[in-house]
Amino acid sequence: MENGKLHHAIDTLKGSGVRITPQRHAVLEFLMNSETHPTADDIYKALEGKFPNMSVATVYNNLRVLREIGLVRELTYGDASSRFDANTTEHYHIICNSCGKIVDFHYPVLDEIESLAEQVTGFNVTHHRMEIYGTCQNCREQKMVKQ
Ligand SMILES: [Zn+2]
Ligand SMILES: [Zn+2]
Repeated sequence: MENGKLHHAIDTLKGSGVRITPQRHAVLEFLMNSETHPTADDIYKALEGKFPNMSVATVYNNLRVLREIGLVRELTYGDASSRFDANTTEHYHIICNSCGKIVDFHYPVLDEIESLAEQVTGFNVTHHRMEIYGTCQNCREQKMVKQ
């Protein structure tokens, strides 16, 4: 990760008047360095060594604060735990059916489908979700080893 990105995020935090506790800083930094879209539990496990007094609830609370100021996105897929994403630029996700890994990919935002949906239904469209599913390279290779 470029450090500039983290500094920019820290500036956004400061600008929003949110207190930057060491834990909040660590949660944000971890998320910005991670490309795996971790759950709150993953983040907790990664940071508990550094912050022995921190609870999962604290991690959740920090994630909620970061989400509210737009630094973090919460992803919900099915009934699995929410995943968190510090990449707030427009992108889509592809999800592995075997291991649940979520990978970013970029594709021009499907604006046309939103206007079409508005036209044909009369709804006021706010956003859309699109996920692609498949088997990741790792899982495909593991399968081949087993066979
Ligand atoms: Zn996989
Ligand atoms: Zn993402």
